[in-house]
Amino acid sequence: MISRRKLLKRLSALPLVGGIMGTGFSMAPTWEDDTEFVPKRDVIKELGLRTFVNAAGTYTAMTASLMPKEVMDTIVSSSQHFAMLDEVQDKVGEKIAKLCHAEAATVTAGCWSAMVLGLAGILTGTDKKKIAQLPNLEGMKSEVIVQKSHNVGYVHALTNTGVRIVEVETAADVDRAINSKTAMMWFLNYQAPDGKIQHEEWVALGKKHGIPTMIDMAADVPPVENLWKYNDMGFDLVCVSGGKAMKGPQSAGILMGRKDLIEAARLSAPPRGGTIGRGMKVNKEEILGMYVALDLYIKKDHEKEWKSWEDKVAHIAEAAEKVESVTTEVSVPPIANHTPYLKISWDLQRIPITRTELQEKLRMGDPSIEVMGSGDNTINLTVFMLRPKEERIVAKRIQEELNAAKV
Ligand SMILES: *Cc1c(COP(=O)(O)O)cnc(C)c1O
Repeated sequence: MISRRKLLKRLSALPLVGGIMGTGFSMAPTWEDDTEFVPKRDVIKELGLRTFVNAAGTYTAMTASLMPKEVMDTIVSSSQHFAMLDEVQDKVGEKIAKLCHAEAATVTAGCWSAMVLGLAGILTGTDKKKIAQLPNLEGMKSEVIVQKSHNVGYVHALTNTGVRIVEVETAADVDRAINSKTAMMWFLNYQAPDGKIQHEEWVALGKKHGIPTMIDMAADVPPVENLWKYNDMGFDLVCVSGGKAMKGPQSAGILMGRKDLIEAARLSAPPRGGTIGRGMKVNKEEILGMYVALDLYIKKDHEKEWKSWEDKVAHIAEAAEKVESVTTEVSVPPIANHTPYLKISWDLQRIPITRTELQEKLRMGDPSIEVMGSGDNTINLTVFMLRPKEERIVAKRIQEELNAAKV
């Protein structure tokens, strides 16, 4: 399986939307329950924006996920009232904490922002002078311990606060690395299999040395249990994205964990200004929308949803395999975007179309479709971001284009 990072890199190398705006196709907006909604002003159409069937996944560049109707109802209805931002956070935080077995929680501007604010809280506590001073760490701790294999791009959220990353590999390394400057120990959930120290041991090491631990599990639901698993395990702070599989607002996420740390983190977040987090504002509509999205996500029938993903993948695979020389393979990443992926490959001698050419054909078609790809003769797709019945469109279009390219 190709990494998300590589996929994104390839995606960014693609020609930009501007060149293909002429197709002018825009699908009628539908909610998950498939009721049609006709807007008074269709801005998507007005601006000539290309919309597409998302068979790629929850990529920020593709606006990641679509919010369910209940979430949008919350956003619309709450938009007609003023409320004190801190009160909204207090009430929602209490509910989220309860749902996820945490002492406390707060809605942040995404998982990234949860990491910045969570660490800021650890560094400053409730000291107003320190809060105003970040990212100047004078008089504060300044190091965060990270396993070497976890030290990827996401640590930038941590270094935003001014800290330095200290790499370790073994438990003995952790014992050696901890000193009076150590602020936190950070764990990147999806990299766990590549690290020598697993979750429980990381938490135990933190407790042994009195150092708070944080876990980044941004894209790591499903399974739904992950929402409380790491709180139950004893991580002091847990950070998760709201706008990936949970289908909350794209610019929302959750920071949850120890009450004192959440309180301190909020001192660096709006409505308070003159802080490192002033730019990480979440409006009340999105805070409430995040809560409703989480609540809906927890309550949904996950087994039924999984079965529907498998059915959709099977439908697309079956259609593609009708074309001679085409082979398919289903896989499920164990952590992060844990959902069935379908790999479709073909014999370039018999179907001389490269995967970038096929991606372009699908993109230029009506409706436009986005899929990922790897190598010269393979496309990769997921179905968890498809709207009702779109798997039929995807299956038909892939079959059509592969057939058309046959010699
Ligand atoms: C998506 C992601 C983030 C950033 O989350 P946002 O909600 O987009 O801020 C951080 N870490 C990991 C591992 C991610 O996948």
